[in-house]
Amino acid sequence: MAAIRTRVNSQSFKTWFEPIVPLHLQGNEFCIQVPSQFFHEWLEEHYYSLIVEILTQILRKECALSCQILSEEKENFPIATEVALTSPVVRLPINPLEPSMAMPISLDRPAIKPQGSASITPTLNPRYTFENYIKGESNQFARAAALAVANNPGGTSFNPLVIYGGVGLGKTHLVHAIGNHLIQTDKTKRVLYTSSEKFTVDFVEAIQKDRISDFSNFYRSVDLLIVDDIQFFAGKEKTQDIFFHTFNTLHHFGRQIVLSSDRPPKELKGVNERLVSRFQWGLTADIQPPDLETRIAILRKKSGDDGIDLSHDVVEFIATNVTSNIRELEGCLISLLARASLETRPINLDLAKEVVRSIMGEVRAHVTIEEIQRVVCEQLKIPEDLLRAKTRKQEIVNARQISMYLAKELTNSSLKTIGLHFGGRDHSTVIHAYQTVEDSMNVDSKQRALVLQLRSKIELSLR
Ligand code: ADP
Ligand code: MG
Repeated sequence: MAAIRTRVNSQSFKTWFEPIVPLHLQGNEFCIQVPSQFFHEWLEEHYYSLIVEILTQILRKECALSCQILSEEKENFPIATEVALTSPVVRLPINPLEPSMAMPISLDRPAIKPQGSASITPTLNPRYTFENYIKGESNQFARAAALAVANNPGGTSFNPLVIYGGVGLGKTHLVHAIGNHLIQTDKTKRVLYTSSEKFTVDFVEAIQKDRISDFSNFYRSVDLLIVDDIQFFAGKEKTQDIFFHTFNTLHHFGRQIVLSSDRPPKELKGVNERLVSRFQWGLTADIQPPDLETRIAILRKKSGDDGIDLSHDVVEFIATNVTSNIRELEGCLISLLARASLETRPINLDLAKEVVRSIMGEVRAHVTIEEIQRVVCEQLKIPEDLLRAKTRKQEIVNARQISMYLAKELTNSSLKTIGLHFGGRDHSTVIHAYQTVEDSMNVDSKQRALVLQLRSKIELSLR
């Protein structure tokens, strides 16, 4: 690491090297763990030869690098996958089902320890804790329920606890936090985190190897069973059957069950009714998309964790423009840091705009001026043709200017084209409108809220 530190700038070092966990050296192969697929690709593209060069120097022999990914992107297998880090790129999944964090939970190995002894492998991501989970209006109910369960597993009426919400809103983080909290507070507790997909794969393997009873005993031996993304149980009847029995046994013995889903249990399609009704025995808590304050808090916390102090305008710009989920918000922050470090540029509003623009590029390509006019007029309850008319009534002028502003912000149309859509006004009128709206947003919080709300509406109408 010290050798690398002298070769890259400190921001890059912080972003791309500090998170690496060296795992082991086996023959010529040096294995490291990295936080995500994105991270892995980045290393491969930008730092592979540097790392190998330095390794070869230090170890005085030819070396290859392999990489374990603490996977987050692949929702279905939220466990580590191992890939060879070679250049040019060849990605070899070595054993995608093998958890990485400690002793693997595999049916081929004696995974079941006598009751009361140390915990089995939780495959929990140590970064997903309550401390790192930012509280906001959108998640406070789910968070409070999760905390209650973590403090008293099996001892509340929240059994099972079902957390549901859209993608990237923090379900996986929260269910890991429960597990992490429990293993920290009580070392004797056996925690098992899995996904419905992994459960299914293990089950199929157990059938093939004629080890169903090992499989059942194993799952029934835990104090806390966490199953992520139960919507993927849909259509898998045999797996649902065995999960039903597992569930009943655990519940009967007062063990805690925590589940996550992308929708409320009663809306799960293809899941057996008796299972759905079990899911509703305890507490169902939802996570909503984060509001602006929460988005700002998250950006501040995450950039702070990386040792970066983002200016207010950068934070606000990202938080008002990247609205749909927290994963996207994180992605935006990562690109921002990556660009700043690679192009050695300061992190400022210009850079933030570039990054957001490229992330939102897809949206931008699809927004039309007509759509903007439609949404604005619908919201402000004025007839659309007045936008193109000569009327100078204040409320019409405001609607017209806001529409022009949004057209410039959200489409790639030229000022001239925008003007043409508003009854053939010329480009200087559009510039004036843009300025007026921008200025008014800075001084008038109501106007600001209105414009931001319209903007989200337009973006949402495209999803
Ligand atoms: P989901 O499982 O709902 O798709 P994740 O739990 O994977 O979402 O969350 C996506 C990313 O956002 C993760 O990196 C997670 O740490 C982060 N995240 C989500 N919610 C929060 C929060 N409230 N505070 C901090 N980070 C969060
Ligand atoms: Mg998830």
